[in-house]
Amino acid sequence: MFLLYGKRSLIIKRYTDHTHACPHCRGLNLDVKVEKFYYHLFYIPFFPSSEKFAHIQCGNCGKPYKDPVREEGYYIELEDEYEKRTKNPIYLYSGLIIVASLILFMVYVNLETQKQKAKYIANPLTGDTYLIRAERNDSTLYYFLRVVNISGDSVYTRHSNFEYRRYPADMDPSDFFVTEEELVYTKGELKKMLEDGEINAVDREHSQK
Ligand SMILES: [Zn+2]
Repeated sequence: MFLLYGKRSLIIKRYTDHTHACPHCRGLNLDVKVEKFYYHLFYIPFFPSSEKFAHIQCGNCGKPYKDPVREEGYYIELEDEYEKRTKNPIYLYSGLIIVASLILFMVYVNLETQKQKAKYIANPLTGDTYLIRAERNDSTLYYFLRVVNISGDSVYTRHSNFEYRRYPADMDPSDFFVTEEELVYTKGELKKMLEDGEINAVDREHSQK
């Protein structure tokens, strides 16, 4: 997969400083730009790097504030001050926020699906279809169960004619529920099967068509 990533920078803040004089023209009108570097993936900022630089230029004469003839420490101090007071904007974390949101969303959807399944299993209806995962001879296979009758605590089901080697998203068009044999479960047994992961999916709307 082609990944476009790396480091870029942008100006995250601009200030006008009227309290420090330009060393060249003595004007009190400095333009301050704060540049921040960040890591990006496909140009989406993921998170900021540690580099932050204040660039100070005179708004009157246009010369850079930094004067190499003068004492270096003083100028760095003013840059430092602007670098420190400029916080990282939240959009520099966009990528992280997107990824975290997606993960949270998937966790939420999964929890909702689990809750829905538990609800259906606790109150079975005729026509409900369960996808069952079973282990047989060290291999995993799948089949479907359809609820055909409920009597008190007993849930009567019929199994599909086919057994599937791979997780089936749906029943094969040529598959059908075998009428000769009915499997009976208590609601407690079904609950346990769901908790143990034997019941993989519970389909209600689909089976009511
Ligand atoms: Zn100037």
